[in-house]
Amino acid sequence: MRPSPALGPNAYFIGVAGSRHSLDTPALLLDRAALERNIAKMAAIAEQHGIGLRPHVKTHKSARIAQMQIEAGAVGVSCATLGEAEAMVQAGIPGVLVTSPVVSTNKLRRLVALAEKAGPRQLMVVVDDACNVAELAVLAARLAYPLDVLIDYQCGYHRTGVPDEDAALALARTIAETGSLRLRGIQAYGGNLQHIAARNQREDAAAQLRETVAKLVRALRSAGMPIEMVTGVGTGTHESDAGGGVFTEMQPGSYVFMDVEYAQVLSDETRGAPFETALYVQSTVVSTRAPAWVTVDAGTKSFATDSVAPVVARGVDGPAQYAFFGDEHGKLTVDAEHRPPLAARIEFTTPHCDPTVNLYDRYHVVDGDTLIDIWPIDARGRL
Ligand code: PLP
Ligand code: MN
Repeated sequence: MRPSPALGPNAYFIGVAGSRHSLDTPALLLDRAALERNIAKMAAIAEQHGIGLRPHVKTHKSARIAQMQIEAGAVGVSCATLGEAEAMVQAGIPGVLVTSPVVSTNKLRRLVALAEKAGPRQLMVVVDDACNVAELAVLAARLAYPLDVLIDYQCGYHRTGVPDEDAALALARTIAETGSLRLRGIQAYGGNLQHIAARNQREDAAAQLRETVAKLVRALRSAGMPIEMVTGVGTGTHESDAGGGVFTEMQPGSYVFMDVEYAQVLSDETRGAPFETALYVQSTVVSTRAPAWVTVDAGTKSFATDSVAPVVARGVDGPAQYAFFGDEHGKLTVDAEHRPPLAARIEFTTPHCDPTVNLYDRYHVVDGDTLIDIWPIDARGRL
């Protein structure tokens, strides 16, 4: 039987022993066993500390992986965009939190329609502005139940969020007056803390943020506001925040795949990274004519370019250094004894996993040397 065109040119290889090394590239590879172990490990950390887990789907944008996270015990999922939330609700994923404010009339209409589709208490959104709250409240009045909102609190990054306790309290009062919206709690995501390189500094910064957030929660509660949920926490601070007693849930994303950046941040001299690399970009050597390097078919359209360089994980026996070499090409500098031949497959750990995933239509799921499945990246490009 002819495989579905939606699965792409590698569909014929599903289940063929050794097929990992014959794929059309560039291809995004997902090591299923490593993915499963990462999902189970974060779920166990959350369970051990009695804290909820609402993993961020901005990393994988996949309903299938979201479902695996739910089956492992997650209370729901977090989404960065309305488009991601629509893809998750469409797939029947419960407990969807939109972690960025949704602004403009058309998007607010989409949000309310989505809340209706999801059902009572299955969709939440963060807010940081009274006019936005007022507009959302009018549109949400047509729902048969109140729409759940969280106040987004600015944690030092100044990207979104109310700046202080007074502003949080004022916004909480505005929400309470609407009738069509229900305040569930606050979001305090310290995005600027997640990649602090030194572990003790990162943990100190996380502890400091928890103190500020605890104070905010006390202030809101003593003013009679129902703060039942306190969400935040990424992969970088999960160890410190899980047992910190302030957050009621965590929303890490990158732990499912890991990447070059997070492997550096989370490893220290005494131990390796707590999660395994599960995501790779596989490329092919397409030219060996240059004497000092080989050219591979993965360039700026195959890797996110906002951070570090991709790192070779498989395919070269000695040291190798990747450099971007245009949209479709990479320059892989290797010494004379280790030069891979033309058509060799080279696999890279991704520099920054989330924006890399968004460049691809599908995951090539591998078990050892064999391609075992192809999963769509459902919310790819859904901004
Ligand atoms: N929560 C929010 C609001 C985010 O923006 C992000 C990532 O940028 C995350 C959670 C997940 O963080 P990480 O991928 O570092 O685990
Ligand atoms: Mn990221």
